[in-house]
Order: sequence, then C-alpha cells, then structure tokens
Amino acid sequence: METYDLLVVGAGSGGVRASRVAASLGAKVAVVEERALGGTCVNVGCIPKKLFVYASQFREQFERGRSYGWQADNIRFDWSVLRDNTQREIQRLNGVYGRVLENAGVTLLQGHAQLLGNGRVRVNDREYTAGRIILAVGGWPFVPDVPGREYAITSNEIFSLPELPASAVVVGGGYIACEFASFLNGMGVETHLVYRGELILRGFDTDIRQMMLEQMKGKGVHLHLESDVTEIKSEGANLAVTLNATKLLSSEAVIYATGRKPLLDDLGIENTSIELDGNGAISVDQNYLTAEPNLYAIGDVIGRMELTPVALAEGMDLAHRLFGETNGGPGPVDYPLVPTAVFTQPNIATVGLTELDAKNTGVNYDVYRASFTPLPLSLTTSTEKVMVKVIVDKSSDKVIGCHMVGADAGEVIQGLAVAMSAGVTKADFDRTIGIHPTVAEEFVTLR
Ligand code: FAD
Ligand code: NDP
Repeated sequence: METYDLLVVGAGSGGVRASRVAASLGAKVAVVEERALGGTCVNVGCIPKKLFVYASQFREQFERGRSYGWQADNIRFDWSVLRDNTQREIQRLNGVYGRVLENAGVTLLQGHAQLLGNGRVRVNDREYTAGRIILAVGGWPFVPDVPGREYAITSNEIFSLPELPASAVVVGGGYIACEFASFLNGMGVETHLVYRGELILRGFDTDIRQMMLEQMKGKGVHLHLESDVTEIKSEGANLAVTLNATKLLSSEAVIYATGRKPLLDDLGIENTSIELDGNGAISVDQNYLTAEPNLYAIGDVIGRMELTPVALAEGMDLAHRLFGETNGGPGPVDYPLVPTAVFTQPNIATVGLTELDAKNTGVNYDVYRASFTPLPLSLTTSTEKVMVKVIVDKSSDKVIGCHMVGADAGEVIQGLAVAMSAGVTKADFDRTIGIHPTVAEEFVTLR
C-alpha cells in the first residue's frame, strides 16, 4: 500500500496550491482528481466566464466607436469561434496545471477518491494511506426541485453549448445569474433574469445593488423580480417557463444559477467523524481541521467564501501550517478584507463593509459617494454610469468599505484593498494625488 505524508482530494484551485506548496516544503504528496485539472475555476468558472464577458463587451464597443468616428458595419458574432477558442485555452491551462504538479514532484492519481477512515483512501480500487488528508473537493451547481428541472442547464454546460440560444431565462440573483445574464445580453440573446427577491445581489451594498439593477434594465435585460419559477415545460423548439404559477415566458434555454452545494457525493464521509454545517459544508476549526484527526478541508467545500483567491490562500496557509517552519507561511486569511468583483456590465467590485454592515455593527460612520457619466461615454448615447462609494469609521478615520460600479471596477478595488489591509485612513485618501482623467481618481477626490 503506497503511503504519503499528504494526500489531497481535488486538483482545483485550493488542492493544487496546497499540494504544490506542501511538496516544496519537503512532503511526499499525492493529489487525486476525477475530472480535468484546475477544477471549477479553470474548466467551468472564472476563466471561461471572464473570456465570455470580454466577448460580450465588443458589441457595445463597436456601437460606442461610432461616436468616435469609427464605422463598424455588418458586425456578426460567431459563437462557435468563442466556444472553441475558450475550450482550447482551458486545455492549455489543464496542461499548465499538470506541469506545475509534475515539477513540484506531486504524484497525480486520476480517479474518484473515497475516504475509508484512519488515513486510508481508495482510488480506482487501490488503497493509499496518508499521514494527513486535505479535502479540496469544491462544489456543484444546486438546482431546486421544480417540475421540468431536467430541461434546465447550469454554469457547467453553458460554455460548451452547440449553439448560442436566441433567448434565455436565467434563474437566480447572485454572482453567476447576474454575470451570465449580462454576458448573454451583451451577445445579443433576449435575456430574462428571474429572481425571487426584490433586489439582486444580496450581501452587496444597497446603493450598488440598486444601481446595478438600473444598469441591467438600461442595457435591455428583462427583469422579473419577486418571481419564482413554478414549472418548465417543453413546447416545440422552446421551453415554456411559468413564473409564480401565472406568468409565462418562452425561451430557448433556462439556466439555473441558484447557488452551489458542497461536492460530497460518494466521498465516504460516513467512514469518518466529519461534521457538516447547516448548509451542508464541512465544518472545520481555525486550522482547517475537521472533526476527524489529521483530516483537513479547504476551499468551497468549507463554505466560507467561494472565491478562487480564498481557496488558494487557504491551501497555502494550511500547507505551511502542516509542513513549514514556524511563522514561515502567509498566515490566516483575513476574510473581512477579501475583495471581490462581479463581472456584470458594468462590473461591480467591493472590499470591506457595506453601509448596512456598518450600521448593523454599530460603527459611527460617514459615507462618501459619487455617481457620474465616465469620460469615455461622454461622446456616446450610453446611459451607463459609474458609482464610487467609501465608508469611513468616524472615530478612527479608517476606511472600512470601498465599493464601485463601473468598467474594470475590480482593477481599481484591488489597489484599494491593499491600502485597506495596510489600515488606510480617509486623510490618506485625501492626501493622495489623483491620476487625471481617470475614474479611479474619484476615490481620492471625494469630500
Ligand atoms: P474546485 O476548484 O471546484 O476543485 C475541486 C476539485 O475536486 C474538482 O476538480 C473536482 O473534480 C475534484 N473532486 C471532487 N470530488 C472528488 C473526489 N471524490 N475524487 C477526486 N476528485 C474530486 N471565483 C473567483 O474568485 N472569481 C471568479 O470570477 C469566479 N467565477 C466563477 C464563475 C463560475 C461560473 C463558478 C461556478 C465559480 C466561479 N468562481 C469564481 C468560484 C471559484 O471557481 C471557486 O471558488 C474555486 O474554484 C474553488 O476552488 P476549490 O479548490 O475549493 O474547488
Ligand atoms: P450565489 O449564492 O451568489 O447566488 C445564488 C442566488 O440564487 C441568490 O440570488 C439566491 O437568492 C438564489 N436562490 C437560492 N436558492 C434558490 C431557490 N431555491 N429558488 C430560487 N432562487 C434561489 O450563488 P451563485 O450560484 O451565483 O454562485 C456561487 C458562488 O460562486 C458565489 O457565491 C461566489 O462566491 C462564487 N462566484 C464568484 C464569482 C466572482 O468572483 N466573480 C462569479 C461566480 C461565482 P437569495 O439571494 O434570495 O438567497
């Protein structure tokens, strides 16, 4: 029976990082993967999604170009070119991940891993033992039990569809639903967004959510709020989608983006003392340790923040804790200061507290906000607006939240996240000279 110091289940963002770092610290490591290397992010997540977002922006760019004197006639979009080029890029990245593991000396075991308890794992009818095991098995799209759900697809299928649908109903109001509705609309698909609540993007700052709703409407996404899909039926070439048991939509595709659930199928957790939380995620302590000795979990499966950089940081931190020298690693993840972006049109990005968070935590705060037409759109008929918003703790002058809606918002907020993790104050913002003319300079001119 082959024995390892560390056996990692899942070669996605968290698993590859933990394996590679542990091996570089001298551990004998194997990683088990049953699908393609790179996990959700590379194969059906961040990477293909962002490429599709880029693709969807060209139509508006061609339109806006007219106001700058460019003629771009007979514009056509060929879905198969985007799909095939994206799949080629994914395969290239799969190869990069393979080489990263190989160069680090990590053994790749291709197959399904099942925990047998006491440090034993079965992969393809072979048994392995390991001093430590890390579960980095990620998640899977959750589709509620609606009559006709078999007609619906999810983010797992969209990037390899044979044809671009002429119309689509996207269900959900979170990251994936808003991003997918934005890029489909941008590609010219008649797009309906069906959300059960009043305001999309729960958890983000209310001003940002409201503005995003207006922007999506302005760009032609058909919004159906306070609406639940009650039935999906096949109707010729189309799907008939009933909302709230009354309203009927007809579309070529129905895409569910109603959250993801931890991927624990046939993992053998019943052979361990692993405990799950109320959302079905694996419970871990501050050292990522489950209730079973020497069995750890990181990434989406622990349900803290389902973001690639978070899975990477957890993998790195854990590998150092297990195999590194004292104080050698990056240290624990600072969850409250994790920045994040939603790649809608325009983008949203945020770091720190929302205004509602600040209110609920009882902080005495000030809000600085500006909303305006960005310079590149001044010659065009676009109604797109930018919003920047900063929340400041009055007692310490510390900046406790930065939020933005606007093109490339993530590129701007990333820099502000560095400043916030270094403890930036509003006085520091005010002292900083802007770069003119940019959108980002608005953050240092808010008074
Ligand atoms: P994964 O990357 O999901 O890796 C888990 C791996 O484990 C998989 O490869 C799986 O096949 C394997 N596995 C599972 N069970 C077993 C088993 N029993 N045996 C063997 N192998 C197993 N995050 C961002 O930060 N930015 C974005 O723009 C972004 N966009 C996204 C867009 C979409 C459509 C989706 C779905 C997600 C997006 N995310 C984004 C989230 C990001 O992809 C995840 O947070 C990240 O991939 C989680 O990494 P992980 O290592 O926890 O799991
Ligand atoms: P989210 O949790 O972001 O959103 C799920 C949405 O589905 C919410 O609007 C929720 O409504 C709704 N919903 C949940 N259950 C039901 C139901 N039974 N019926 C109807 N609606 C329902 O999940 P996503 O699937 O969008 O994405 C998963 C995670 O992946 C994200 O949370 C994020 O961490 C990550 N991700 C990150 C991206 C990025 O960094 N840009 C991009 C894509 C994904 P309600 O709000 O009312 O609960």
